[in-house]
Amino acid sequence: MILRRKIIKIIGLSFLSFISFPYRFLYSTTKKIINPDLSEDQKSIMFNEGTERAFTSKLLEEKRKGFYHCANCGAKLFASTAKFDSGTGWPSFSEALPGAFKTKIDYSFGMKRVEYHCANCGVHHGHVFLDGPTASGKRFCNNGLCLIFKPEN
Ligand SMILES: [Zn+2]
Repeated sequence: MILRRKIIKIIGLSFLSFISFPYRFLYSTTKKIINPDLSEDQKSIMFNEGTERAFTSKLLEEKRKGFYHCANCGAKLFASTAKFDSGTGWPSFSEALPGAFKTKIDYSFGMKRVEYHCANCGVHHGHVFLDGPTASGKRFCNNGLCLIFKPEN
């Protein structure tokens, strides 16, 4: 019985990697380093879909008016008016600017999550959840290291 379960698990996993591989391959080829000053931590998050440690981002404290841009390509992604404190330890937003991101389903860590990446340069930014507190119902959970804040004026 145990052996049979193991075999089913192995078949399931290889099927999953088979269906996700072509997509991952296509996806990774579209990403390019545009900002030559990216740190190793930034690269690991943006190009390998890593996650920064919770409560480490300086942007958690950022409350000024302005816009959040992609740290790789500079594209404008979020307005400060969409930012809220989710208590999760990652900068959180109720909505992105129109066309800022593209999404894909991410099955890593045994969870089904919606991953989003910069529509302009393709780098990973975070995951979007449907438990946001505002009318949009969305919660964009963004790695702070992927963002650059530019205050108004
Ligand atoms: Zn970008």
